[in-house]
Amino acid sequence: MAVTVYLLDDEEALVELHSEVVKMSGLIARAFTRASQFFEQITHFESGSILMLDLQMPEMDGIEVMRRLATMHNPPELILISGHDIGVLNSAEKLCRAHGLKVLASLSKPLSLDYLSQLLKQHRPDDSTQKQPRPTLDENEFDAEGFRRAISQNEMLLYYQPQIDIATGEMSGLEALARWQHPEYGLINLETVIPHAEKLGVMGELTEWVIDTAVKQEQQWQQEGYQACVSVNISASDITSLSLPEKIATLLEDNRLDPTRFKLEVTESALMGELVTSLDILTRLRLKGIGLSIDDFGTGYSSLSQLHKVPFTELKIDRSFVSNMTEDAEALAIVKTCIMLGHELKMRVVAEGVEKKVHFSLLQQMGCDIAQGYFIAKPMPAESVSHWVNSRQQL
Ligand code: C2E
Ligand code: MG
Ligand code: MG
Repeated sequence: MAVTVYLLDDEEALVELHSEVVKMSGLIARAFTRASQFFEQITHFESGSILMLDLQMPEMDGIEVMRRLATMHNPPELILISGHDIGVLNSAEKLCRAHGLKVLASLSKPLSLDYLSQLLKQHRPDDSTQKQPRPTLDENEFDAEGFRRAISQNEMLLYYQPQIDIATGEMSGLEALARWQHPEYGLINLETVIPHAEKLGVMGELTEWVIDTAVKQEQQWQQEGYQACVSVNISASDITSLSLPEKIATLLEDNRLDPTRFKLEVTESALMGELVTSLDILTRLRLKGIGLSIDDFGTGYSSLSQLHKVPFTELKIDRSFVSNMTEDAEALAIVKTCIMLGHELKMRVVAEGVEKKVHFSLLQQMGCDIAQGYFIAKPMPAESVSHWVNSRQQL
């Protein structure tokens, strides 16, 4: 099935030019210069469709368009376009994610037509080297029972992404990242599923499975001679369960694992709830020796005093800053400041989203402790880790 690319930009000449690139890349182009006309004519989207969206339009701007798309069934994936500075694109991209929309790319005007064509060709259906667009996950199809079944029937998997000590080049840890091997939809990253699992009240069961699986895996690695720490992500609803520290401590003890080799990652926004309860839980986790990491740092809302109150041992700089720091001076300034802040507060600083050698070199110069990202390794199944360790070249 051919992929449709919708183009929405008030500059007529640009829409025409970009439509030509879409067609030459082997996809179907449907161009619009007014958002109202777009929404009048297009009331549903086929799976895998794409919208190239200009953020500045007179009558309904790109942000409003996003908001409307978020309420529609099966919205297209977005290519955001703006003539403004990169900061505007970054904010718009975050807003899209907050709405549950997927962003394929954010591009500054004038667009590089070559780059656009390369990007679009990856979505050409007859290109057998690329994945076919999958039916999008319709969250209304899931219920609590479906989730429980997925866990009990081993449809949930943990992938692990290595982390490197920047000074020594050694593997210092592995982050466990959950995937759902869905019988119909294929391998799904959990990011889109988690808010729904929280709403259904099954997140705790998923987290329990993740922690249990990661602890057992860590014990196996320890027996094989790997000393790396394992980190697990927990969500907002997990830090409302007062028995969490005891449960984890018992599990670690039963598996004879040193709690200082186990870490929990909490996002800034997860701390937005009842602070007294989360502080109680997080402090007791630390008292038991378990490491605490503040994840996606810089994207949430935590205040500095909150950061100071919670006994975090590690600060993870969000990947959006790290992967953009060579093109975006503001992102570079944020990365630098986070490293300084983390060190001043006696935390280890991890950079996520290290995609290129130049990112790694810059982080090394800035004194960052740990690197994680595609330049080092993509998340992989547990069985692949030993092969990766043995075959990898020192950075
Ligand atoms: P996170 O904890 O910040 O995890 C890092 C995410 O960045 C992972 O996405 C990883 O695949 C991706 N990543 C790693 N290196 C790079 C890179 O160089 N470039 C780019 N662009 N991305 C990179 P993933 O696995 O899709 O997970 C997304 C988020 O979903 C995680 O963000 C985490 O917040 C959440 N998540 C994943 N597994 C779990 C889980 O078991 N429990 C909970 N509560 N959340 C989870
Ligand atoms: Mg994480
Ligand atoms: Mg992160």
